[in-house]
Amino acid sequence: MENVIQSIAEVCGYIWQKGWGERNGGNLTVNLTEFFTSDVLAGEQHPLGVTLPHIAGQYFYVKGTQKRMRDLAHKPMENGCIIRITDDGTAYKAVGEYVPPTSELPSHLMVQDYLQHTGSAYKATLHTHPIELVALSHHRALLDDSVRPNRLTHTLWSMIPETLAFAPLGIGIVPYQVPGSVELAQETLSKIRDYDVVLWEKHGVFAVGQDIMDAFDQVDVLNKAARIYLDALTYTAAHPDSEPEGMTDKAMQDVQRIFNLPKQRPC
Ligand SMILES: [Zn+2]
Repeated sequence: MENVIQSIAEVCGYIWQKGWGERNGGNLTVNLTEFFTSDVLAGEQHPLGVTLPHIAGQYFYVKGTQKRMRDLAHKPMENGCIIRITDDGTAYKAVGEYVPPTSELPSHLMVQDYLQHTGSAYKATLHTHPIELVALSHHRALLDDSVRPNRLTHTLWSMIPETLAFAPLGIGIVPYQVPGSVELAQETLSKIRDYDVVLWEKHGVFAVGQDIMDAFDQVDVLNKAARIYLDALTYTAAHPDSEPEGMTDKAMQDVQRIFNLPKQRPC
């Protein structure tokens, strides 16, 4: 378990270095149940406000509310804590020292509950503010999510072959919602079934992964493509006749075929 906590701290350091985690921005949860062979006595009970039957009795590392990613990178157990969901799935108790969790805890745990329900191997959820992806979320023309792949995904995939190879499910789009709202949680849940990363319009991203490094990598790959696209557009600003070309559909289909990429998440 120490290695997993260390990995969480490492990722928080990367997020800070990349400028994705200003002040207390961003939050995460990681399922640690595999490390608890018997029930651990936990402290005071805190209601979740939702019932999550599939993660009842399970253990999670959660970032603390008002805690900074840059501090968590050095002191993960002072800026987050481990919680156990009660047996009825309606509340949680801290295991060891209690650090009040992020206000986004119910939405992260709703996704964790869904992942357990589907037998998924994914254990980590991550919300962060990657600069270039958020910048693109201000462009209405990229945000129509009624076609698949949506235009934003198609644009990002066309920047370099690795984007398609490492993010074959693309990025889903959730229209702007108030942070921490039930609507945002529900929209995220409906999109995360089909995508590894979901873009919260004019806010940030929500990602799931087999572990926290995996979730971070998904965001990093997509944000790298967003940055290339924006850099290419700076040339267009000086040379209006030259739009970023992007890989052709044929070139992208070749990548899909050669790497035998999945069209939907296996689990
Ligand atoms: Zn946020």
